[in-house]
Amino acid sequence: MLKAAKCPSCGGSIKVPVDQEYIYCMYCGTQIIVTSVLQQHLDTKKTVSNYMNLANTALTGGEFEEAESYFNKVLELDNKHHSAWLGKSISVLHRSTLKAPKYQQFFKLFDTAMSLAPDDSSKQLEIKKSQAIKSFVARYIEKSNMIFSKPITNMNLWKEHTQRCADMYKLLEHSFALNRHDELAHKLVIIISKSMLDGFPTIDSQGTISRRMPSPELRDWAFKQYDKSVTILKEQDASYSQPKVKANRSIVKSVKTLFQNKKEKR
Ligand SMILES: [Zn+2]
Repeated sequence: MLKAAKCPSCGGSIKVPVDQEYIYCMYCGTQIIVTSVLQQHLDTKKTVSNYMNLANTALTGGEFEEAESYFNKVLELDNKHHSAWLGKSISVLHRSTLKAPKYQQFFKLFDTAMSLAPDDSSKQLEIKKSQAIKSFVARYIEKSNMIFSKPITNMNLWKEHTQRCADMYKLLEHSFALNRHDELAHKLVIIISKSMLDGFPTIDSQGTISRRMPSPELRDWAFKQYDKSVTILKEQDASYSQPKVKANRSIVKSVKTLFQNKKEKR
């Protein structure tokens, strides 16, 4: 019988016959004592599984930095561990800050996991990717919205917020690619759109607080996303009632009619 092990000298993956006392590594020629490498292999497997447990506990507990460091420990021992790559990708995504999003790293790490995973688990991985994106977007939009819990003076904050919203729409497309009726993903689109359609409070040098509404282009664009998702959710559940937005549709319509009338008059 042959068992998988690693050469203690060169690290090459080898198969050792359990009924022999020693063999020579097929890569480096080092003499290997069978019982000792088998024991070592067993120990490594145990350590990997311990680290995986710790990593996954940290991940579910929202301790993303800790989770990432445990997944890294697994990968040091076994760099072909696709679940560790997947876990690392999710931890990294969640470690995005408002100033430094980590979407690119997430996709890169996820692709590594995908390339190492057995073919029959690719669908499962796509589902996990979609779940990770949705839970990330839910946290991220909440964080970004917090900026506007107080009136702002720096208009760049709004610009950055709308850019993040655009990025989040894009991320959710991965969930829709898997299931275009994904209820949670549609609800997130509505939350993102609402945050743009509601505008933001500003304060001027006199201390006067007023609410600024999105530009007409932004409003039309956000409404499009909002409408699409509301329609799909209503198809699935007729009793669904969408959160109302401050820049409501009648304003958009009246602006549009205004433009149409102008054009016709010309
Ligand atoms: Zn060797």
